[in-house]
Amino acid sequence: MPSPPVAFVGGTVYASADEPPVLDGVVLVKDGKIAATGRRSVAVPHGFEIVDCSGCTIVPGLWNNHVHFFERKWASASEIPAPELASQLQQAFSRYGVTSVFDLSSPWENTRDIRERTELGEVAGPRIRSAGEGLVSPGALPSETVMRMMGVMPTPMPEVRDAAQAVDATKTLLKKGADGIKLFVQGAPSGAPAFSAEIISAVAEEAHRAGELVFAHPATGDDVLTALRGGVDVIAHTTPHSGPWTETIFETVREQKVALTPTLALWKYFARHDRLSAQEQITNCALEQLRGWVSAGGTVLFGTDLGAVDSDPLPEYELMEAAGMNFPQILASLTSMPAIVFGDADEAGRITPGGSADLAIVRGDPESDIRALANVRFTLRAGRILYS
Ligand SMILES: [Zn+2]
Repeated sequence: MPSPPVAFVGGTVYASADEPPVLDGVVLVKDGKIAATGRRSVAVPHGFEIVDCSGCTIVPGLWNNHVHFFERKWASASEIPAPELASQLQQAFSRYGVTSVFDLSSPWENTRDIRERTELGEVAGPRIRSAGEGLVSPGALPSETVMRMMGVMPTPMPEVRDAAQAVDATKTLLKKGADGIKLFVQGAPSGAPAFSAEIISAVAEEAHRAGELVFAHPATGDDVLTALRGGVDVIAHTTPHSGPWTETIFETVREQKVALTPTLALWKYFARHDRLSAQEQITNCALEQLRGWVSAGGTVLFGTDLGAVDSDPLPEYELMEAAGMNFPQILASLTSMPAIVFGDADEAGRITPGGSADLAIVRGDPESDIRALANVRFTLRAGRILYS
């Protein structure tokens, strides 16, 4: 059903993370697109339903760039009744303003089923990109018992021991339609080594040839450096358990355009059983790593590792702020940066006439209080209301 034209009137509008906001602004949405935006003086044409947004802030639809569709709740996705699937997608994403996600490892055919149902409009949900099953070292996969305890559906993942096998696995995933390649760089507890720079660069070359990106999950600072030297595009985590990142890492970041999903709240969550002093040490180390990354000019993509943590993004927003990122920088990591890194059209990640009407409308002013960014009133994807 096409939505009727709507005018969101009276809120503070951030058309783009790198421009000052328009106070008392207007956003006109028609036929799934932004028809116009600007000051309240923009005339609202006849036939538009008017929604008063006084006291609210309107930002481009948000992206969570590190999620997993591997929890049991997503299994047999083609058979989940549409209202239930829509409800699960709403709880995970749109109730927090999220309109686009990047899945960094899950059973690919199953995730593709979710995407097909959302793309056909049968089920309301976010835009989904997926790396399919991540590549692992032999023996690096957690046991089925552990996976079951984590609430994860059993997922066979390609085990690769050398560059040739890694390239084969990459080709297979890309042929099946994956939108990127995820490498679990770390080795196995049993002794299988972490991926070498040779394996990583062979995968990066193959993926880049196909126009796709490579994401690396590191366990240590050494893994990060190997991944950077191998030419990956996105580092999927900070690594506070291995201590501070070295100047060599930051020098490499300065030279290469690489992105990071910090996943700060993940470490805080995993440390919840530890003594307070240990929790603080882990959190502070992760904050320092992000701080160093930002001062080295590295790109930041918002990402929580949803599936391993709950869906509320607020703990991550607060930690990014604690690492020194201001609201426009945090907003960029949620909007314009992913649009740039993933090579989307110019109008993606912004509110601009002719662009898709992907919007998050939140209560309050997130610039003065970041908690407002998680207090969502409406989420729209291509003009369709995903959450209200
Ligand atoms: Zn993850």
